[in-house]
Amino acid sequence: MGDTISSRLGPGAPSLHLGNGALSVFFDVLAVAVMPRARTDWELRLARWIVESDQLLLGLGTVGFDVSELGWTAPDFEAQQRFLVALLDAALDREGWEHLPPALRQGSPRLTELLWQVRDMVARFPREVVPLPEGDDFRWPCGPPEDGRCELHQVYLHATGCILCNDSSLDEHVPHRSPTL
Ligand SMILES: [Zn+2]
Repeated sequence: MGDTISSRLGPGAPSLHLGNGALSVFFDVLAVAVMPRARTDWELRLARWIVESDQLLLGLGTVGFDVSELGWTAPDFEAQQRFLVALLDAALDREGWEHLPPALRQGSPRLTELLWQVRDMVARFPREVVPLPEGDDFRWPCGPPEDGRCELHQVYLHATGCILCNDSSLDEHVPHRSPTL
């Protein structure tokens, strides 16, 4: 099982087929990097979208996405694109990794490659297609995070728990593990 990250409206961008583990770690590192950065409504929705991209919330093999699904708005597109590219750079610089579960702090060449690939997709996403027709963003949150923060990992909680508690090894004691689906 696994899922896809794609940019169907981007120029020549290949779809990336990823296993569940690779997708989990991708969202984990974005979850910690986005915390000190998100300020505007769109940035906070992005932060919520990241922590909701948890396979213990949505189900295994369901957290893939297309770059067109990120709630882009025409007046602020450039700022949104800059923010997301800077966020991927921050993840590449390991920002916030001290908050990751210990087993994830080492990183991997595959993760680095994936962050670069998605950064390229975002940087090349064409502004001419924004705004997108409704219906392309079914997973995009309707507002900022509203479930508080995990006191252990310092990331936003989602409706059933914490994306990082859920990716901690089972012998670790963590405060917000979601019920198993
Ligand atoms: Zn947590």
